Amino acid sequence: MIKLATRVQSVPPSITLSIAAKAKAMKAQGIDVCSLSAGEPDFDTPQHIKDAAKLALDQGKTKYGAAAGEPKLRQAIAKKLQIDNQLTYAPENVIVTNGGKHSLFNLMLAMIEPGDEVIIPAPYWLSYPEMVKLASGTPVIVNTTEATEYKITPEQLREKITPKTKLFVLNSPSNPTGTVYTPPEIKALAEVILDSDVWVVSDEIYEKILYDGAQHLSIGAVSPEMFNRTIISNGFAKSYSMTGWRIGYLAGPVELIKACSIIQGHSTSNVCTFAQYGAIAALEQSQDCVQQMLDAFAERRRFILDRVRAIPKLSCPTPMGAFYVFIDISQTGMTSMEFCDKLLEYQQVAAIPGIAFGADSCIRLSYATDLTSIDKGMTRLANFVNSL
Ligand SMILES: *Cc1c(COP(=O)(O)O)cnc(C)c1O
Repeated sequence: MIKLATRVQSVPPSITLSIAAKAKAMKAQGIDVCSLSAGEPDFDTPQHIKDAAKLALDQGKTKYGAAAGEPKLRQAIAKKLQIDNQLTYAPENVIVTNGGKHSLFNLMLAMIEPGDEVIIPAPYWLSYPEMVKLASGTPVIVNTTEATEYKITPEQLREKITPKTKLFVLNSPSNPTGTVYTPPEIKALAEVILDSDVWVVSDEIYEKILYDGAQHLSIGAVSPEMFNRTIISNGFAKSYSMTGWRIGYLAGPVELIKACSIIQGHSTSNVCTFAQYGAIAALEQSQDCVQQMLDAFAERRRFILDRVRAIPKLSCPTPMGAFYVFIDISQTGMTSMEFCDKLLEYQQVAAIPGIAFGADSCIRLSYATDLTSIDKGMTRLANFVNSL
């Protein structure tokens, strides 16, 4: 039998992917499955972005490029970070990666050593702890509750910082909870960070998906001191419905970006060259497409929230960003896995168990799907809970 490295033995496969596979298999059998498990926008990539990539393909942008990305894209990203986020970066401070996931993975490899601790608030995006482990670091999970809308408090953060703490992972708006830290909350966390030697990686992939006037403040924009402790991870997948394109980026100190370029130079090399031209168009051309998707998400969000709140035994905070509702199911007495398994089996609704995000008393529903499917799924969910 092949002997695998211990590195991979402590990392479980992605639960979200396994539920999706089960739902897909049921669909293939002709079963009418209602999927509220999607982790990606259901819209097609906007036409002008596709056109730009097609043009690049026709123009022969089909060769190897610089490992850190096309200079024009790095430039456009630096400009975006200035205009949207008030963060002053040069193109040298930016690396283009194979998605936001790859940005974070590069970062962990470049920064984390055995013994280093990385603070991660739970519920968390499921890959954070696994990436830390793959980089031989120690994830330090901090549990948050519905009472604080699943936000880590400055006190909780302060308590977890030790001399070994290297990094704090902040994700606002959050997947899976949809929570958005307000500017004063971001500033309060920054104060704690600046009392220590800890760095922050701010995963801002949902920054444009905000509701009811919620504001996104990048923690790096709080002060020049905080800017010098911040690394930004972002990408095109969620804002521009480009999940399959695999383009993200990391912005931070030049030494870090150089280290990540070296890692990329020996692993993936550059991101697909012509795809990067689509990303340039996404940043440089009209942003109307972002607003159109946001309008659709906003309507679905109101709709699904009303339906969740009409079901006794379920509760959720009002998500202020992203496209998820994170529902507490503890009154049903089931674990999240049991709940999702039975929901899929008895009512053919696919949802993601909270255990995947470090919160076993919850499930995650996605409203990145059409209103008809949401309507049907919520009727079935209500039938399921009411039958318990
Ligand atoms: C989707 C997502 C990402 C990155 O996705 P990519 O497709 O790799 O760009 C990063 N963080 C969170 C929280 C996400 O939900």
